[in-house]
Amino acid sequence: MLDEVQTRSEGLILHVDADAFFASVEQRQKPSTAAVPVIVCGLGPRGVVATASYQARRFGVGSAMSTAMAMRRCPQGVFVAPRMQAYREHSAAIMAVLTRFADVLEQVSIDEAYLRINVVDVPAAQLVEDVAAAVWQATGLRVSVGAGRSKLIAKLASTSAKPRGLRVVTGEHEQAFLDGLPVSSLPGVGPVGAARLTELGIDTVAQLRVQPPRLLERLLGSAGGAAALAMSRGRDSRPVAPSREAKSVSAERTMDYDVPASQLVPVLEAVLTAAHTRLIAAALGARTVTVRLRDSQFATVGRSVSLAQASTELGELRSAALSALAAATQAMGLDAEEESGAGARLLGVSLAALSTSTQLALLPGEVTVESQPHPVVPHSADGRTNPPVIGTRPGGHWFTGCDAEHTELGRGWVVRCVAADDSLSGQAELIVRFEEAHSRMARQRRFALDDPDLTPAGPAPVQSME
Ligand SMILES: [Mg+2]
Repeated sequence: MLDEVQTRSEGLILHVDADAFFASVEQRQKPSTAAVPVIVCGLGPRGVVATASYQARRFGVGSAMSTAMAMRRCPQGVFVAPRMQAYREHSAAIMAVLTRFADVLEQVSIDEAYLRINVVDVPAAQLVEDVAAAVWQATGLRVSVGAGRSKLIAKLASTSAKPRGLRVVTGEHEQAFLDGLPVSSLPGVGPVGAARLTELGIDTVAQLRVQPPRLLERLLGSAGGAAALAMSRGRDSRPVAPSREAKSVSAERTMDYDVPASQLVPVLEAVLTAAHTRLIAAALGARTVTVRLRDSQFATVGRSVSLAQASTELGELRSAALSALAAATQAMGLDAEEESGAGARLLGVSLAALSTSTQLALLPGEVTVESQPHPVVPHSADGRTNPPVIGTRPGGHWFTGCDAEHTELGRGWVVRCVAADDSLSGQAELIVRFEEAHSRMARQRRFALDDPDLTPAGPAPVQSME
């Protein structure tokens, strides 16, 4: 356990990572599957597994495995296609909770973030517990939390504690903790580097850190060797950085003729709107707007304009985009007044210097949820590969795992599609299970694909545990 005095003076870095994130969101919103293997995967013939629940992992199902293989290993599993919007909304709710604790929050993926906490006024073990409990309270999802003096230690601590793990590694226990880990756990070593080290009998961090630097440089490259050696001794000065500068959200449009500068504004509007939709879906704000133009000779220019701070507002981003467009047309030598002649073939907009700090509108909904354990409802996947889309309705597509709304029965989800040959009616049918996050019982019904009372729906809002 971390010495309290030390935490007060030095602050702490936390690494928070949701457990089996996509599958956990599915289990949360489909409570009849909470205790059974759930596999979120591509359902087409070449589909791969995105995330398997811990129950499915016991059957040897893992990420990046083909869906076909997963179905052979775990035929009783519930196989559903990803619902990205639901995952983004849960991600935003998790990050909103984390911002309450963090002085600096760095979101590194949809379900993972580093927190810098400058003043820790409770014992570190209590802090990591509070963070995990707050996420659970707001979303019903479990996270693993690791804490230490550096990003390296925080991340290794949370990884070693998964799932539902909380682990604090103190300064004085840091080296012993590192020493016991396999060399492959050090960032940058990679599978190839790890194999080379193992060939020489260097399996653990303890063995790696006493090797001559020159040997490590030979095996891992000069930068890689030095980095591995520093990390093996717990040296990691990477800061927790709020922005995600390396990442951007973009959209572009290719025109089939040269569009003169005077007619580019409506094109910009359409492309910007598409990029903005993605920005909002990812629960991000952007500070820098770049407009790129390309002419029919493939000459490309890009110009950027930055706002004072990250914004989610289309209006603010638009004014930056218009300035960037004006600068780009000028740089390309296009006359803004000219109605015809030289023009652009491609217009792209990218929104960068992304930040997650502007997401106050995305707090979890205020729906009441009961916290009793949910009964397990028997289920069966059919063991066959369903096509990704099993029907289309005015409201959207039907796919396995998709949300459905019935005029009388309320919200449910598509368990599977029964092929015409297998159904009593002689027509393809959907099996829909009606339940929501708070449901204690689920009921299941069959419907024709075009039943007028049943429509595809968007995901239910994030529900808190209160
Ligand atoms: Mg995760």
